[in-house]
Amino acid sequence: MKKLVCPQCKIAAMYVKNAAEERRLVYVTSEGEVIPKKEGESLEGFNLDEVFCLGCSWHGSPKRMVRY
Ligand SMILES: [Zn+2]
Repeated sequence: MKKLVCPQCKIAAMYVKNAAEERRLVYVTSEGEVIPKKEGESLEGFNLDEVFCLGCSWHGSPKRMVRY
């Protein structure tokens, strides 16, 4: 599975948030799909339209992430 990376710092580790500001660690595949880092973890209720980079201050649509 190929992962997209942050356009600024080029790492693949991202997180998403839900309405309660809880975080889930995720990756974004080269198909643009947001998937949980931990297998079997649910992303239900999380906003998958905005991802936050773990390595820098970048956040935005997963569509803006780049191939490494
Ligand atoms: Zn980054």
